[in-house]
Amino acid sequence: MTNRAYNFNAGPAALPLEVLQQAQQEFLDYAGAGMSIMEMSHRSSIFEEVNDGAQSLLRELFGIPNNYKVLFLQGGASTQFAMIPMNLLTPGKTAAFVNTGSWADKAIKEAKLFGETAIAASSEAYKYNRIPELGEIVIPENAAYLHVTSNETIEGTQYAKYPETGDVTLIGDLSSDILSRPVDVSKFGMIYAGAQKNLGPSGVTLVIVREDLVAESPKSIPTMLRYDTHVKNNSLYNTPPSFSIYLVGLMLKWVKERGGVAAVEQYNRDKTKLIYDTIDQSGGFYRGFAEASSRSQMNITFRLGSEELEKLFAKESEQNGFVGLKGHRSVGGLRASTYNAVPLESCKALAEFMADFQKRNG
Ligand SMILES: *Cc1c(COP(=O)(O)O)cnc(C)c1O
Repeated sequence: MTNRAYNFNAGPAALPLEVLQQAQQEFLDYAGAGMSIMEMSHRSSIFEEVNDGAQSLLRELFGIPNNYKVLFLQGGASTQFAMIPMNLLTPGKTAAFVNTGSWADKAIKEAKLFGETAIAASSEAYKYNRIPELGEIVIPENAAYLHVTSNETIEGTQYAKYPETGDVTLIGDLSSDILSRPVDVSKFGMIYAGAQKNLGPSGVTLVIVREDLVAESPKSIPTMLRYDTHVKNNSLYNTPPSFSIYLVGLMLKWVKERGGVAAVEQYNRDKTKLIYDTIDQSGGFYRGFAEASSRSQMNITFRLGSEELEKLFAKESEQNGFVGLKGHRSVGGLRASTYNAVPLESCKALAEFMADFQKRNG
């Protein structure tokens, strides 16, 4: 077996070894076709099976109701930041946002290009170290929708519970925590996620959307940026990222084999507990960035006493086989991303390294 790094990359991120091995086995000759999946028509029956199979397995695992469509699009979650207001922010209405950090901020900026926006709640005054209390959220009366960022990948915060929005459509960016825990999809009008953190490789963006919201997009929108185009064509209007969709399918099978989303959630909690406990028991040597009640189960952000010490930690961790622990340049410090495919063994090794590093530098 090749030497696998302790991969804590924030995205693209670790994929399960079993998934990579299966892809390797099938790489040259998929299902006896005499070619790889990348070389075949996206209109072939073999690829159609891959496309439909991934959709239906996701429906099963994530409990997606029948009146929702599952789309595989391109352009990343960042394109959704614009597509959502283009399609769903109707004249006279406001796009409302909970501003929780770096990714929410980007979504807000894009929506501003298309219409009126409102901040329903914000944790900017706290440097985004927390998710606002649900009671702080004020949705304007003319809201077309309320947008939440389920997990702020850069700051390391995550909603423990989603807001109740009544008649107002709730839209969730679940790019960094999709399929990491069970979600009541029926509470949302739309959920979207770039695949490259929890769901597979980069190149494909998942959209789960209630049918009535996308029955007909405004006529002025370019064809590729209309949801109704992709709904009517089962995500096959143009050439899809076929290899990425295939790998998402393998990743979904892997989740199923591990017992489904609830089992994956428990595993994720076991993983993060090892690291959060190390932080909390370090007597202040490590300091978690996020407020305890807003802590992410996907991205653990923490700081040390000085930037020099943080640099030393980053350097020594690399020398010891850990990858991706340097925090995002916008917030500094350190970050361990513990997405679905990151094994418990990696987290155990990191907790041990952290304890040892403290012993030597505390
Ligand atoms: C990574 C990320 C994005 C951006 O995804 P792209 O696919 O790179 O556009 C958006 N939102 C969140 C929460 C993310 O973690």
